Amino acid sequence: MLVIGAGFSGVCAGIKLLEQGITNFRIFEKSQGVGGTWYENRYPGAACDVPSHFYCYSFEPNPDWSRVYSPQAEIQQYVEYCVDKYGLRDKITHGARIVELRLDEMAGNWRVTFGDDSVVTAHHVINGGGGLHKPHVPDFQGRETFSGPSMHTADWDHSVRLEDKRIAIIGSAASAIQVIPEVAKIAKQVTVFQRTPNYIAQRNDRTYTDRQRARFRRWPWLQRLYRWLIFNQMDVLLFPITRKNSLLGRAATRRVLKHMRDSVDEPALRKVFEPDYALGCKRILLSDDLWDAVNRDNVVVETESIERIVPNGIETADGVLHEADLIVYATGFDIDGHMRSINVIGMGELELQEVWSDAPEAFCGGCVAGFPNYWMITGPNTGVATTSVVYMVEQMVRFILRMIAAAGAEKLLSVRQGVQDAYNDELQTLIEQRVWSEGCNSWYVNESGRVTTLYPKNARAFRRQLERVNLSSFEVMEANAKKPTMQPEQVA
Ligand code: NAP
Repeated sequence: MLVIGAGFSGVCAGIKLLEQGITNFRIFEKSQGVGGTWYENRYPGAACDVPSHFYCYSFEPNPDWSRVYSPQAEIQQYVEYCVDKYGLRDKITHGARIVELRLDEMAGNWRVTFGDDSVVTAHHVINGGGGLHKPHVPDFQGRETFSGPSMHTADWDHSVRLEDKRIAIIGSAASAIQVIPEVAKIAKQVTVFQRTPNYIAQRNDRTYTDRQRARFRRWPWLQRLYRWLIFNQMDVLLFPITRKNSLLGRAATRRVLKHMRDSVDEPALRKVFEPDYALGCKRILLSDDLWDAVNRDNVVVETESIERIVPNGIETADGVLHEADLIVYATGFDIDGHMRSINVIGMGELELQEVWSDAPEAFCGGCVAGFPNYWMITGPNTGVATTSVVYMVEQMVRFILRMIAAAGAEKLLSVRQGVQDAYNDELQTLIEQRVWSEGCNSWYVNESGRVTTLYPKNARAFRRQLERVNLSSFEVMEANAKKPTMQPEQVA
């Protein structure tokens, strides 16, 4: 058994495998530490925009979160803690980048090839690689000519001094709005290049007092109740705003826009931040400190499009040169490229990249027809807009381990093509009802205009859907034989 990645997904899979008494597995992680996205994203201001009491494993509540939305270092520390507590440290191999998974149908195994050409085999592969880790740096004309340092938010170089620098930040979304307030405090000048405005709601972050933390420690039920309340707030109250033209969505839009207008001092600047698309079509952002930064004298928001990068700065389409000493790319991630980053070759030499040439598609986001015993924890359409991804990860891991128990050490499980197709037809119909399909440009939508990232129902529905899946959805094959040898049966 092999697990890819030591972020929240891979660590959860490892913990649950050990809990079931399965010890013959290894976790391969490309970086030198655990934590996944929280290991990579160390830019100033990096924090979670989901409340920490819900952005953690349900089986490992942490009474000591310092604040509602914990900073990166604390989340990273939490993952480290889980790895040690559950005895996973020795199960992880670092610096191991997997480049190919090839099914050996006769042996019933996956041949797993690493970047250094070494090979291991595994009967089951659980892919816990997250979706947001392949930095996207747009190929601006002249990018290589810039004479100062430049870096992506997910690849922050803390040795670069920011004091008294003129900093150009390209992008104005989730990562950018966290980094801007921090760098604005020390930089000489910050120029933010905004292509599309975002809805930015109040985060209402605050610290937990010593007394509150002591109460969580003393009464675990209180912490469980608090988590349940956050879960329901997001799943029951917030999720409905993602329905197209909903009354709730319109009310929320008015509220968020009012807050934004009230927060920007300069009247002329207010319009710059007003989106012209429906709330939720792009990710709704949360911030308490962006507006203070925007109101500072040393912060400028530029909406002209970037024409080229030159040695001493950025030139916009109106011919203006914006001088800069440092360029920060807060330009997001290559979601599609990530999903295809490992060459996966399944039955009949079928390549996943080919199968996914139009759009990535899976059954329940966890498995693909023709790729038996290859399981994805955060596969296509498992992303969330209004809940905690850690919740989704736990549900998916439970589902995968149930399927693995059914397959055992001998059999291969491949989801039936018809089942997968029917699932995706329904999924896309449901997505049509959601604001993400309204046509705005976001990482939720791939190049062909299809929403391949988000799940169109709430988190509770995702859990129920996975619980209902049984072996009748799969072809069950013995190694050495491609024909189904078992009748579909219910998985206990
Ligand atoms: P993103 O949402 O994809 O935003 C990228 C930004 O770069 C956008 O403002 C985009 O403009 C801009 N951009 C991209 N290409 C550009 C180009 N060629 N020219 C000009 N501007 C360009 O990336 P992100 O902010 O890193 O966030 C990605 C996701 O990571 C979030 O949605 C969230 O799920 C996660 N995240 C979470 C947290 C957290 O608090 N938990 C924090 C950071 C990130 P357009 O909008 O016009 O495309």
